[in-house]
Amino acid sequence: MAIEAKKSVCRWCHARCRVLVHSQDGKLVKIEEDRTDPRVDQILPATRGCVRLLGAQEHVYHPDRVRYPLRRKGERGENKWEAITWDEALDDIADRLGAVTKRFGPEALMLTLGTGRTTEWPLMRFLNLLGSPNIVGQNQICFGPVIGMAAAMMGWPLRHRSGMILSEDTDGRPLTKCAFLIGIDPSQAVPRLWKSLRDAKQAGSKIVVADPRRTKTAELADLWLQLRPGTDAALVMAMINVVINEQLYDRDFVARWCHGFDQLAQRVQAYTPEYAASITNVPPGKIREAARIYATNRPGVSINGMGMEHLEDQQEAIQARLILAAIVGNIDVAGGEYLPGPMDIVGEVEMQLNEMLSPEQRKKQIGADRFKLLAWPGRELIAAENKKFWGQESNVVSYAHYPSVLRAMISGNPYPVRAGLTIGSNPMLTAANTKLVYQALKSLDLYVVKDFWLTPSAQLADYVLPTTCWIERPELYCTYGNNTSIIAGDTALPPQLAGEYDYRTDYDFFRDLGMRMGQEGYWPWKSMEEAYEYQLRPLGLSFPQFMEKKNGLYFPPDEYRKHERKEGFATPTGKLELYSTTLEKLGYDPLPEFHEPRESRLSRPDLAADFPLTLITGGRVRPYFHSEHRQIASVRKKHPVPRVQVHPETARKFGISDGDWLWIETPRGRIKQQCAFFDGIDREVVHAEHAWWFPELPGAEPSLHGVWNSNVNVLMDDDPDRCNRRSGGWPLKTALCRIEKCS
Ligand code: SF4
Repeated sequence: MAIEAKKSVCRWCHARCRVLVHSQDGKLVKIEEDRTDPRVDQILPATRGCVRLLGAQEHVYHPDRVRYPLRRKGERGENKWEAITWDEALDDIADRLGAVTKRFGPEALMLTLGTGRTTEWPLMRFLNLLGSPNIVGQNQICFGPVIGMAAAMMGWPLRHRSGMILSEDTDGRPLTKCAFLIGIDPSQAVPRLWKSLRDAKQAGSKIVVADPRRTKTAELADLWLQLRPGTDAALVMAMINVVINEQLYDRDFVARWCHGFDQLAQRVQAYTPEYAASITNVPPGKIREAARIYATNRPGVSINGMGMEHLEDQQEAIQARLILAAIVGNIDVAGGEYLPGPMDIVGEVEMQLNEMLSPEQRKKQIGADRFKLLAWPGRELIAAENKKFWGQESNVVSYAHYPSVLRAMISGNPYPVRAGLTIGSNPMLTAANTKLVYQALKSLDLYVVKDFWLTPSAQLADYVLPTTCWIERPELYCTYGNNTSIIAGDTALPPQLAGEYDYRTDYDFFRDLGMRMGQEGYWPWKSMEEAYEYQLRPLGLSFPQFMEKKNGLYFPPDEYRKHERKEGFATPTGKLELYSTTLEKLGYDPLPEFHEPRESRLSRPDLAADFPLTLITGGRVRPYFHSEHRQIASVRKKHPVPRVQVHPETARKFGISDGDWLWIETPRGRIKQQCAFFDGIDREVVHAEHAWWFPELPGAEPSLHGVWNSNVNVLMDDDPDRCNRRSGGWPLKTALCRIEKCS
């Protein structure tokens, strides 16, 4: 057969590059970048040079890939499996899940989800139809916190950072005059934004970076604020103080469109740059300079990363960051931060069938009585305002509280959680407090994992189901229903090849399971393409027509200052709420406030006597995407072992040389990583890489592919009393630790 080329969407990171996949007889021949995608030159490194993409052949045909459904043969964790058919697997799982839900109720099923690894509405639809509110995942510590806070304050989530570029005018001059980046290093994590920042800097835009580490992005900056981990809220509150007291804010925008300015002005009076300096270790002069640069170079953007989303003060810091952007008039203006509004097709929310989850079942969502903003209580308030104003709901987070669900699995409180599904995630690596995660997963009556590999989490399962990679499934990506743009791609390689493998999409899995569990009638589309066709109906195009006539891309022009045309924002006051009445209704402080981390040298001097350093984690390392790609030889060669950044003076104090392996220990446990001297980090702070496992090590217990060796989540705390007060996000940037050279 002749070679054929299909346009597909890479999902090995959030950049979602469109690529041309060439195949022959169902086998991958080569992949190249799709130059018909107008975004193709917006990325650095270029798609064609992306190390993950270059490893595609290895990934697709890797000998370790799970090719058929596997059923556990021995004890859990023995790594003994038998291959079975999909029908056998689905019948078994439906029977066993049915038995659990009959005995304990549908809420006894929990589901873990990773960060943007799949089309998410099918699994939400399945859970809603079943009656379980207990989906958990990274959403509470990865962008979900920005979605929720922005939607509460402004009535819709802001554009996702992965799709953000700094605007230019028609002559190629920068429209965005300033970028304030806090806790984000696009050079490692956001390739589109990284190129855009470098271009904007060259064209004269100002760049201000706040980060405890001198990242590549910090090196590019006009001003770098090296703040103490966990103190972001205090820093930004002080910047607001300067902007207000020096009258640098947009008086007209604030007067006409903002709610609660007076209360805000009063709140920030305590946050003088001098006071904030005593908290953050950033000199007051630099705080003033940052505020002045940001406020006087308009329009501008402020962008936070997971550095902010991993804080105990996550929500307070994000709220302050959004307030700062709002009062200088940077929201929904050309060159500023874009507020997209509803999409033109049938969106994620409608496909989720949230109305099928009854109020009684919503009330059972674990942890939602305490951590309300990113759970059903917060979502319901935001959705009501969205509907009134836009006629559509945004897709804000409505998750159960992960650490509380893990505890319920072990204790049976507030009720038994006896079954688990893991989709596109790896909780043994990516949820905090691995010892507790292990105990929780082992306690289940039924645990099913759908993945490419036998991961450490999959090794604890009863069934492991083979999943399609992006090359083997169609794509209709609409930023989870919160953006107006669409990026689509075809199925480029067959998901089934007789005698070789039998992969299924998550849609197929949930449809087939749902049909076995009484959900007939709710899955009218036989395939993902058919479902996508339904979503595209408002455009009057089938999925193939969308690919052909629109090239699978839909980027309606940004429409700014919608509050002027629509006379307000989708909030209870109709204004952009600096003082959040939604937070107030949920029983939280409506304004931001800094809180000292509950495990720091200041708050726990007793602990600091034994654990004198602060451990931060989660900073991205370019070749990898969280826990993925460790088995891809060409990727692994680029970065073979986990590394912990330590200031040379600190390392020498402990008798450690560059390249030595060292123990990192917190009150929760210890792991080892290789020391990397780095003088761009404070002497009292170390940064350890996350999500490390070793696919080449034995899969059976106790090794579980070396999950206990270097996995930083063994060290991190998920105690609900240390989680963010409003959202339940758990802290990954403030753990006390000590280091010691491995003997
Ligand atoms: S992994 Fe590489 S090719 Fe794929 S989306 Fe990310 S940057 Fe693009």
